[in-house]
Order: sequence, then C-alpha cells, then structure tokens
Amino acid sequence: MSNFETDYLIVGAGAVGLAFADTLMDEDPDCHITIVDKHARPGGHWNDAYPFVALHQPSATYGVNSMEMCPDRVDEHGHNAGMYPLAKHAEILSYYSKLMSERMIPSGRVSYHPLTEYKDGEAGVHRIRGILSGEEQTVHVRRKLVDGTYFKTSVPSTHKPAFEIADGARFTTPGDLPALWKEADNLPGHYIILGAGKTAMDTGVWLLEMGVAPEKIGWVRPRDSWMFNRKLLQPAYHRIEGLIQFQMDLVECAASSESGDEMLAKLGERGTMLRLDEDVTPKMFHFAVISEGEVELLRQIETVYRQGRVTKIEPGKMHFRDETVEVPENTLFIDCTATAVPFEARENVRPFFEGDTITLQLAQTPFVPYSAALAAFIEANFETDAEKNNLLPPAPLTDTTDTYPYAVMSNLMSTAILSNNEKTNAFNAKSRLHPTGPAIARLIAEGSPKLAELGKVGPRIQGLMPQVVQLGMKAKAIHEAG
Ligand SMILES: Cc1cc2nc3c(=O)[nH]c(=O)nc-3n(C[C@H](O)[C@H](O)[C@H](O)COP(=O)(O)OP(=O)(O)OC[C@H]3O[C@@H](n4cnc5c(N)ncnc54)[C@H](O)[C@@H]3O)c2cc1C
Repeated sequence: MSNFETDYLIVGAGAVGLAFADTLMDEDPDCHITIVDKHARPGGHWNDAYPFVALHQPSATYGVNSMEMCPDRVDEHGHNAGMYPLAKHAEILSYYSKLMSERMIPSGRVSYHPLTEYKDGEAGVHRIRGILSGEEQTVHVRRKLVDGTYFKTSVPSTHKPAFEIADGARFTTPGDLPALWKEADNLPGHYIILGAGKTAMDTGVWLLEMGVAPEKIGWVRPRDSWMFNRKLLQPAYHRIEGLIQFQMDLVECAASSESGDEMLAKLGERGTMLRLDEDVTPKMFHFAVISEGEVELLRQIETVYRQGRVTKIEPGKMHFRDETVEVPENTLFIDCTATAVPFEARENVRPFFEGDTITLQLAQTPFVPYSAALAAFIEANFETDAEKNNLLPPAPLTDTTDTYPYAVMSNLMSTAILSNNEKTNAFNAKSRLHPTGPAIARLIAEGSPKLAELGKVGPRIQGLMPQVVQLGMKAKAIHEAG
C-alpha cells in the first residue's frame, strides 16, 4: 500500500467537487488538491446521462468560475431560439475534461484519480482504492476532506427501478432510445414515459422531435410540477429586466399568499412559472426550467396516466397500486423514474465546515456550482468554522409546492448575509456562476441607465420581507415535519 500527502482531498469530480477545486486553486494559490472519483472521466453523473440531455438553464452560470461553458450568443433554432445556449451532453463532458486536462493537471497542484473510490478515514488519514487495480493508498490530508457527493444524483442508467418488470415487457432507459434505429424492423408500436420530472420531459420532447406521433405516446405522471419559465432566467448582463421581474414576482407573490400553492398559482398567472396542464394543480416543484416552446410541444401528449406510481409493467398491461390499465401490446416503457436530485438528502443537512471536513451543499437553492465555488472562497478567506458557517448556512432542498417558500426565504436571507460582508460581496461580483453579481458590477462600471430600475429592487424587497418570512416560516415547519 502506498502513501501520499495533500492539503485537500476532494471526493467527487462532478460539478460540485470541480467548482470547489477550481475556486480554491485561485483563492489559495499554495495548496495541493487531490480529487478522487469512481467515474473514469470528470463530470460526475453527466457521464451516465442520456445523450440528448442538456442543461435546463443557460450555461452562462454553470460549470466553474475560471471557464466559460458556451459562447455568449443567443440560439437561433429549436425550442431554445431567442435564448442563450444550454450546453448539451457532449459539451458538458468536454468542458469538464478540458478543465481537468488544460487547467487543473498542468498546474502541478492537482492530482486527479479517476476510477478510484474513497473508502474511509479520520484524523487526516484516509484510504482510497483503485477500482480496476484493487490497490489501496493512504492519503495524509494536511488540511481537509471535502465531500462532493452530498447530492447523490441519480440517473436512469444507474438506478434500479422500484417497480416489477415482467418477462416480455419492452423496457428501456432514455439513454438507449437513440439506438432504436438498430431495431428498424421491430420498432415499438407505442411508447409510455414513466415519471414526471425533467428527464421525462426531455424524453417527451425528444420523441416528438424525432417524429413519433403524439397519439403513440402515453405518460405516467403521478404528480405534476411547476417549472421556471426559462425566458426570465437569461444571463443577467443581457436580460437584467427579466431577472428583476422574476425576483420581484417571487417576492410579491410570496408576500401576498397564505401558502406555497397560492404563491405558485399566482406565479403561474404571471407566466413566471409554467405547468403542462392548466387543469391540474401541481404538487411538486423540483426547480426545473423549461421554455414555453417545450411546454407547447409536450401538451401534444394527451394520454396521461395519473393513477400514481407504477408497480409492475407487463406486455399489454400497466399496474398501479389500486388499478391495472390496458396498454397497446407492443409498448416500449421508458424509465424516467430516477430522482435526479434525491430530496431525501435534506435529512443529512449539516454545517458546511466541521473541523477537518467540508460537506458541499447548497448555499442558495438551486445554484449547485455557485454554492460549491462560494464554499471554496469562504474556506480560503475566513479563519474559524463559526465565522465560515455564519456566512454559509446550508439552504434547504425543498421539493414540494408547500415547502418552496422556505427556499425563497432562505435565498433572500443568504443574499443579505453575503452582500453585507465586503469579501463575499466582492466574490459575488466576480463569480461567473452567480446569477447577477458580475452583470451588475459591469453595469455599474459602464454607468448603465438600467441601474436606476435596479436600485429600486432592494428597498421593494426589504419592504415585503416581513410577509415573505411569515410564509417562509410556515413552509419551513412543513419541510421539517417531513
Ligand atoms: C438529467 C439531469 C439534468 C440536470 N440539469 C441541471 C441543470 O441544468 N442545472 C443545474 O444546476 N443542475 C442540474 N442538474 C442537477 C445536478 O445534479 C447538479 O447540477 C450537479 O451536476 C450535481 O453535481 P454533483 O457533483 O453534486 O454530483 P455528481 O455529478 O453525481 O458527482 C458526484 C461524483 O462523486 C463520485 N463519488 C461518489 N461517491 C464516491 C466515492 N465513495 N468515491 C469516489 N467517488 C465518489 C461519483 O462517482 C460522482 O462522479 C441536473 C441533474 C440531472 C440528473
């Protein structure tokens, strides 16, 4: 067994571990970083994703601080036309590979161990194991172990479905759909999408765009969800008006509502939030972002099963807990039931900074890479755990309509804490992962006339904060009751 030393041992080379490492490299130019990951390439769960996946919000604020992800220009074609680009699967993977091979490894300060599993450790002595070699190594960590696996992202290709699949049932995952051309002589007569989240929506859009007739598609949607309207979430420098409207819509609707459902219904009326079916009240909110064009397309799928979760599939039949429905004999069932971000993780919420361990969680929901980069900045620029944790209370991972106001309240509180601190305020102004910071700094430097409107936002939000907190605290109680 061999030994080596490092300052920071990061477990996970996904969006979180890499955003942390990237910022730490700049903020603490002397430290040595070791990154281990079970995957063979950087990029975490994106390695296992279906090939037609893309980011759902503009790439402008995804990735790491030191590298842009996509060109700064609007898309001209498809359902994202008129909006800023969403990196696609291959682009995301190539981005993270480039980051590793052109910035991190050549710096001489990062050791990257792919196909390597973190086993265990304490008091600065940790064990890792090469998955193919089986060889174990001891890592002496001079400063901290950084857990970049908190989100335990789950995707269809790697999760185990929680329903029974009878012999003869045609079953697949979204990742295998593009290979259907190989079965041109034996194509399914019908397709049923299982699941109601973003993967299911992507699958529906893909099938329709590939020419499958809407009447040949069925969709099991146990719960409907609200989604953010992507047109309001465009890069701040270009579309600051959209972001201001978005922020004010959230605050005004929270301040004037008695419940999360009421708040989201009001946001729906304003077009800030979208839903697939105007006649169904969504109960789920997983922070998915969608375009009006995608919603229009998905509404063409009219066969929607709302009997709950599927318990068993078999040729010609689909079973729910209390009901069995007949489906066309030659149906291909497509599993989109993986939870992507497992919201159960909320039970493990803990301080970011605890002695010799950092647990990367959300600082603001749902800004995953920004939160990790901010944690690295705080780690490098503040002294005690108490000071660091005061700046970075973990944000809640809410998943339902009645708990969402808690996330809104927490984000506003976090924004206030970070902007009241000179150092974190300066970090936000330069972090490309922050939704508005650098754009506002640029507008200030240019003396932009847009600043007049922007200046009114803070006082308006402050004026409504007591009502937002009232609703947020109600939602917090529901969230904590589980
Ligand atoms: C289909 C899909 C689309 C999404 N789209 C967006 C989007 O557009 N915008 C957005 O902000 N978020 C999106 N998300 C959320 C997404 O989960 C986060 O953005 C982010 O990618 C999570 O990164 P992570 O590093 O936490 O997790 P992961 O990507 O899962 O990385 C964790 C890594 O840790 C490794 N690991 C775990 N345990 C060990 C161990 N013991 N030893 C060694 N390595 C270990 C794993 O191999 C993995 O590579 C999406 C999620 C999914 C599933």
